[in-house]
Amino acid sequence: MERVISVSLGEVVLKGLNRKYFENKLIENIKRALKNFGDYKIYKEQGKLYIEGLENVESDVIKKLTKIFGIIYVSPCIRTSTDIEDIKKASIILLKEKTVQLQGVVTFKVNTTRSDKRYPLISPEVSRIVGAAILDNLSNVEVDVVTPNITLYIDIKENAYVYIDKFKSRGGLPIGTNGKGLLLLSGGIDSPVAGYMMAKRGLEIDCLHFHSYPFTSQRAEEKVLKLAEELSLYTGPLKLYSINLLNIQKHINENCPEDQMTILSRRFMMRIGERLANENKYDCLITGENLGQVASQTIESIKVIEQSVNTTILRPLIGFDKTDIIKMAIDIETYETSILPYEDCCTVFLPKHPLTRPKLEEILISEENLDIEFLIDEAFKDKKIYKIK
Ligand code: ATP
Ligand code: MG
Repeated sequence: MERVISVSLGEVVLKGLNRKYFENKLIENIKRALKNFGDYKIYKEQGKLYIEGLENVESDVIKKLTKIFGIIYVSPCIRTSTDIEDIKKASIILLKEKTVQLQGVVTFKVNTTRSDKRYPLISPEVSRIVGAAILDNLSNVEVDVVTPNITLYIDIKENAYVYIDKFKSRGGLPIGTNGKGLLLLSGGIDSPVAGYMMAKRGLEIDCLHFHSYPFTSQRAEEKVLKLAEELSLYTGPLKLYSINLLNIQKHINENCPEDQMTILSRRFMMRIGERLANENKYDCLITGENLGQVASQTIESIKVIEQSVNTTILRPLIGFDKTDIIKMAIDIETYETSILPYEDCCTVFLPKHPLTRPKLEEILISEENLDIEFLIDEAFKDKKIYKIK
């Protein structure tokens, strides 16, 4: 009898012929997340992955595994032979551990699945035999098949696996199975959530942040680094490119109408993002834009901002209500950092009455007063790159 951890795959199982590719990526991601846990082995057995050799660090491992995309459930199991006597023993051990945890009378049911149809007992028989053995051996337990406190699961495959807890993981697809994206990461609530959502669909993510130092502070930069770190708990190691936008903002401020400030600087952000994407092979840009949230996110503004580049832009939050975005930010644990009150580069030259219905022709006329390529080159010169583990 061995303690192992089972990993239930989510959408990966729907991938047909590509399944192997998705599984291998997932295994790679699991290994990266567990690289400090010493010697262990991962193997496949009929639809699930199993990890053996991590007995004393189970709860830390489960914390890591429940943040890896592509996994829906994680369960600490006892693996035994398929001999019914062994299955009984393992079941009694697990149930006994649970009764100690829960105290008082514990109600339970047994749920057996059998993928080896040659197994001499059918599933309900196994459940019945094991249920009876538990009742014979433990006090303070009762069967309740309708609303039990706990369900004891038995999976009969080449080996038998017995488990009670199913820790919910995050679903989605393994990171790295869907290309690479560059997330425009501000210090706000939305953009970390946008990055999380796209990573969950299999995109590998790096981040791009704009600041206006010394108008924005060192602490504002540290806040963004912290957000990137929080995001990296899901994405694995990532890069954060940090670029000073101040010079560009000054040029806009001196040469263009005040109410176009936000739109013009957003167009520069996109262009810089596009150049980074081309140089570093990102397939797309990702933003936290959300229709109607602020002046720069009316449909007209989004359109005019987008027309500065020729790159795919993903906006996973476009149709969400702010309250739902906040719930997600709380769930992924970026919210507390996002609401720290440091200034953002966009607040530096914030117009009193920002345009809500910008016209592309007028924006293009304003941009004739700017040496766009030169300004972008200059901004690139002192870009910083942070590597976040
Ligand atoms: P957030 O909470 O993400 O800051 P927001 O409601 O403040 O969102 P905006 O400030 O209008 O929205 O920004 C829209 C999107 O533009 C952001 O979600 C982000 O992707 C990008 N963005 C804005 N400011 C920056 C910045 N300083 N650095 C990088 N990207 C930015
Ligand atoms: Mg913002």
